[in-house]
Amino acid sequence: MKYHVIVYGCQMNISDAERVSAVLEGLNYKRTPEMNEADLIVVVMCSVRQSAVDRVVGLIEKFKKIRKLNPGLKTVLTGCVLKKGRKILIEGFDHVIDIKDIKNLPKIIGEDHEKNSGDYLDITPKYSSKFSANVPIMTGCNNFCAYCVVPYIRGREISRPAKEIISEIKNLVKKNYKEIWLLGQNVNSYKDPSTGSGQAIKFPELLKMVSKIPGNFWIRFTSPHPKDFTEELIEVMGMGGKITPYLNLPVQAGDDEVLRRMNRPYTVAQYKSSIKKIKREIPDMCISTDIIVGFPGETKKQFENSKKLFEDTKFDMAYISEYSPRPGTASSKMEDNVPHQEKTKRKYELNEILKKTALENNKKYIGKTVEALITGQKNKTAWVGKTKEYKTIYIESPKNLMGKFIKAEVIGATPWGLKAALK
Ligand code: SF4
Repeated sequence: MKYHVIVYGCQMNISDAERVSAVLEGLNYKRTPEMNEADLIVVVMCSVRQSAVDRVVGLIEKFKKIRKLNPGLKTVLTGCVLKKGRKILIEGFDHVIDIKDIKNLPKIIGEDHEKNSGDYLDITPKYSSKFSANVPIMTGCNNFCAYCVVPYIRGREISRPAKEIISEIKNLVKKNYKEIWLLGQNVNSYKDPSTGSGQAIKFPELLKMVSKIPGNFWIRFTSPHPKDFTEELIEVMGMGGKITPYLNLPVQAGDDEVLRRMNRPYTVAQYKSSIKKIKREIPDMCISTDIIVGFPGETKKQFENSKKLFEDTKFDMAYISEYSPRPGTASSKMEDNVPHQEKTKRKYELNEILKKTALENNKKYIGKTVEALITGQKNKTAWVGKTKEYKTIYIESPKNLMGKFIKAEVIGATPWGLKAALK
């Protein structure tokens, strides 16, 4: 039997899909890159934006065509499936299951009679890369930001025991993995559930434990919430070594009133103060952010504050999204009153500032030697990777560099990357 997995969305979904693959390969299913050849198609969906939901709806038509050639085709939908608007999806798929239930996938598709219990995160994944691995440390979220569906889909925060996380990473390092991403919707609320609440292992401690694992690898994590970004975490990040100098700290808005309505309990001044502290302690730190433009009621003046934040903070990268209401969230009950055109204009304006600051930051690397992990190949001799600071790097070399750590001298810079020559 052959299976095909389609995954949309964030690294957490990619990681979940790797667990789906592990369960299916345990049943001797073989993965096929061709949807048309599959006996079973599993879609790990994302509901964060309507466009991602629309893509899944579009797939349902394709399934109908494949089913004409293969009437035995089974289809399963999992991942972030929002309860509202589920009807069309339930009708289009044979099974719609909660990601936490994937241990029961064999029973659901009729390959097993036993029900399996236990946490789905303890399934050993079928990693999709041979050198970079996503390791979830927690799932769910307690924050209920007004625009976000995550707490409704993934439920409340559940952390994985540190022992389990360390053992997964040790195994990866033994297999020569070079990059470990610690994942969570809100990593700095991590709290080891197996330790007493008084001395529970929290995120900075976990990060320290991971960095003590012997081996040649880098540690990255995503994403922390600005409201509980602590001095202790800055201190641990400052230890450097395997912990890479890259931080994605989602600000979401550059105006206090918009932040308040988003239910993000911090001010722009507090955010800036965290950034200042981190840059003081770790001068080579690269910082990216996530921001929404056109949140309900965001005035031109409030948007100007987001522009000011971008100008002052000089981000290395930013993931800018135009607001779109998601059913069931608090903001979906607010009037979506910033016109589409205006949202696009605001996104463009922020992007222009980002382009300028990112280029300025990248130019500082020219003439310097950087370390990078090569993660992709453009053509026979053109390679792409990420520096330790998570800058995209382009290198020409006839050698096979895939999955290798390299040292290179930076010879050129654009807003979105560095050109470098192998040392
Ligand atoms: S902290 Fe992140 S995952 Fe949690 S509700 Fe807010 S945006 Fe969503």
